[in-house]
Amino acid sequence: MTIVKNVRLFPRAPDAPAVDVEITKGRFSGFSPAHDSPAAASVRGAAGSGAEVIDGAGRILLPGLGDVHAHLDSNRMGQTFRPHTADGTLHGYIINDRRNWRQGERSIADQAAYAIARIIASGGTRIRSHAQVDADCGLERFHGVKVALEAHADVLDVQIVAFPQAGIVREKGVRDLLDAALSEGADLVGGLDPLLYDRDPVSHLDTVFALADKHGKGIDVHLHEAGTAGLFSLEEIASRTRTAGMAGQVTVSHAFALDTNPEPEVARILDVLAEAGVSLTTVAPAKGALPQGLIRERRMALGLGEDGQRDYWSPYGDGDLLRRTWQLAFTNGFRLDADIEGCLDIASRGGAQVMAGARPDGSALADDARFGLGVGAPADFVLIDADTVTSAIMDCPRDREVFKAGRLIASGGELIGGPRLS
Ligand SMILES: [Zn+2]
Repeated sequence: MTIVKNVRLFPRAPDAPAVDVEITKGRFSGFSPAHDSPAAASVRGAAGSGAEVIDGAGRILLPGLGDVHAHLDSNRMGQTFRPHTADGTLHGYIINDRRNWRQGERSIADQAAYAIARIIASGGTRIRSHAQVDADCGLERFHGVKVALEAHADVLDVQIVAFPQAGIVREKGVRDLLDAALSEGADLVGGLDPLLYDRDPVSHLDTVFALADKHGKGIDVHLHEAGTAGLFSLEEIASRTRTAGMAGQVTVSHAFALDTNPEPEVARILDVLAEAGVSLTTVAPAKGALPQGLIRERRMALGLGEDGQRDYWSPYGDGDLLRRTWQLAFTNGFRLDADIEGCLDIASRGGAQVMAGARPDGSALADDARFGLGVGAPADFVLIDADTVTSAIMDCPRDREVFKAGRLIASGGELIGGPRLS
């Protein structure tokens, strides 16, 4: 058993008393007041019991964070800074990446491992990464991401999306490459703007859902489409999800249509998505904030990702999930602590729910026993020295201790046993 003494739990009222946390076989097994508790008694007798005791020293204990929309194969973090060269269109970004990704200073696997170390050191205990699959790179990038994630399977919950970054219909052979990636262990099949990029939404989505059905895998579709085009694609995705009986197994990333349509239309399409069991991810973009209140009302799963970081698409991003949580709050214009802390809930329990493929059964987001700090949940957590959760998000202190299944895996901004980051 491990006992973490004297910590303040999130989410709890700011003035809630400190607690001692018991961990048994990698899972939370008890929470009790920090003083005069069975746990405290256990601490006093720990020398005899063999329990490991960690002094929380009044720090805040957050559930482990997750980057559930990463592109580990495109980042350039830690490499020489490169001026941005894309033309600002979706196709231009794709071609700019295609022209330049082979110029990286590390192999795909090594660079992905570097990004993973940064994400874990920031508090991450789960990553869902897209890996680009197209006629140019074939499965090379997928293989690099797979190697890197598999090497960290003991410190992370991981999922890989076989992602057709250049569309499925526009280039020959992509369907077969996706098929191969799924055969080789991809956890989900991706999609990209079926209407406005591939310009053949029926073929695109039929292919995606057929591959998911063939391999028994989930789906995660990039949907940048705004306005009525985005509504169309969301309805098509929801309809196919219902027909295929895939509630909880389909995610839409970005979903800019939810920020670019009148609220009655947004509320209506959210009802459709919630009923179908479609989950959402956001990367906290400058434009395209998702309606968190409406999503929360429907108890839909919503997770946070960092997208590409310092790559051929954008110079932004540093791998820090707490800083991305700040960005999520900032881009929503939040000031109230409850709103800002809701962003941390998305970055932690929300992402866990997205990756778990939980059905929207009306209790999942509050289900601490599966996704957060409840008895029985995996002991994945972050210890951070801050006045409150909101102040932690505002200040992003570097000195964090990150635990996976009750084991310390990162400290002081470094992944233990990982590449040197500072
Ligand atoms: Zn993306």
